[in-house]
Amino acid sequence: MLDLIEKLSKNIDNADNSKKLTGALQDFFIKNFKVTRFDIYIIDDKDKSIKDFSKDWVNPDCAGIDDKFQNIVTKLKSTKYITDYKDLLFFALTKSSKVIGFIKIEGGNSDNLIEFLQTAAFIISIKIQNILLAESMQKNIDFYELMRNIAKIIETQYELNYVVPLIGEMIDKFMPDYLIYIFIKNNSKMELIWPANCKDQSILDEVKKLQEGYDYSIVTNQKTGIFPLVNENTLLGCIAAKSMGAELKENDINYLEQLAKQSSSTINRAIVYAEILKHATLDALTGFYNRHQLEERIKQETSKAKRQKTPLCVIMTDIDFFKRVNDTYGHAAGDLVLKIVSKTIRSQLREYDIAGRYGGEEFALLLPNTRMEEAIMVAERLRKAIANKKVDFSKINPDKSNNTINITISSGIYEFKKTDNADDLLKKADKALYEAKESGRNKIVVNKDE
Ligand code: GH3
Ligand code: MG
Ligand code: MG
Repeated sequence: MLDLIEKLSKNIDNADNSKKLTGALQDFFIKNFKVTRFDIYIIDDKDKSIKDFSKDWVNPDCAGIDDKFQNIVTKLKSTKYITDYKDLLFFALTKSSKVIGFIKIEGGNSDNLIEFLQTAAFIISIKIQNILLAESMQKNIDFYELMRNIAKIIETQYELNYVVPLIGEMIDKFMPDYLIYIFIKNNSKMELIWPANCKDQSILDEVKKLQEGYDYSIVTNQKTGIFPLVNENTLLGCIAAKSMGAELKENDINYLEQLAKQSSSTINRAIVYAEILKHATLDALTGFYNRHQLEERIKQETSKAKRQKTPLCVIMTDIDFFKRVNDTYGHAAGDLVLKIVSKTIRSQLREYDIAGRYGGEEFALLLPNTRMEEAIMVAERLRKAIANKKVDFSKINPDKSNNTINITISSGIYEFKKTDNADDLLKKADKALYEAKESGRNKIVVNKDE
């Protein structure tokens, strides 16, 4: 018996999270007691719901499981274990004589198991408490890191279409038990910005209710929380969180409230910047014309081409697999790539060519007085120049060992026709760009549009 206790301690010694501990215990009991199933359930401190320790939440909707388990917990408060369910044994896990959860065992010899668990349950319980403590501390560390990162976004980014998905991704990663949606108010309507779509009508309905003048409290229908994004009494949008398991936890509501506050301030600054930058001409990161200015230049150049009957080409260029750079090396590295690519592009163009940043990592290059054959040569020269460059992140990421990467771009080219209007120009080049992406990237494709 002492041997077995020692063996148990050794088996669980290295388990440093709930999954590993459950796994180690399952193996141990199957091997030494011939049990057919072994599970651990923990009572949530805050709302008393019962949770599978290995992280699959017990769904209270699911055939009254939670009710049944609540009864078990009530009984375990007066007795250490329960054997009156056929092949099942329930054994209490306690912390200074308070029940914090229980072990559920199927199969095996219950007399042997009970004798063993009189001692072993104590060891298991201590181990569980340590893991819970470590996990909640880690969660708090992650939370403050996340708050800081949301605040920091604005140091390098101001485009709302970029900032909001970034926040969405971050919160999503932090709260894996929830579906997270971010809506931004646009002309008094709530528009889903992240993720790409929401098929959940109940969320869309709740969000609709959240109109200006609403008192900005949290709306919850047990599983869904709507957290308004508010800046100085103006409703900017909201974060919707839907629990995929049990009802919204008090703890998570606290997190989401604070995340909504932090996000509001970041999003508000992005909106303010965007307004200011509309009046600026150049994109801060690349030095290219910004989108607004680019559109102005397109109008001018297309009408000039029509009027003077001169050729005009456009190259739409997009960095390949750029998201991977951000994901692997961080956003500062992504920004460096944007700088290097834009600088390389500029160095390959003539002075009167027009370079604009169309979107995140997509550039539109207008080549006045240029025919298709020349534009193809320019695009090909650009492609090679970028592909031959190595980007070095060691200044940004001193810890990472593999710090140099190659970047490639894909381009779509189109020559303006006198029957086109200004809008057609980018659309048609973009179509070719799409084909370049579809057919393998690091290449140029021409839209002949015939
Ligand atoms: P593809 O080859 O199909 O173009 O793939 P991709 O990963 O380049 O394309 P996708 O459109 O999926 O990703 C573009 C990414 O660019 C998403 C966004 O996070 C990032 N991005 C947009 N603007 C900026 C920026 O200003 N700085 C940084 N670091 N990243 C940006
Ligand atoms: Mg890309
Ligand atoms: Mg793109």
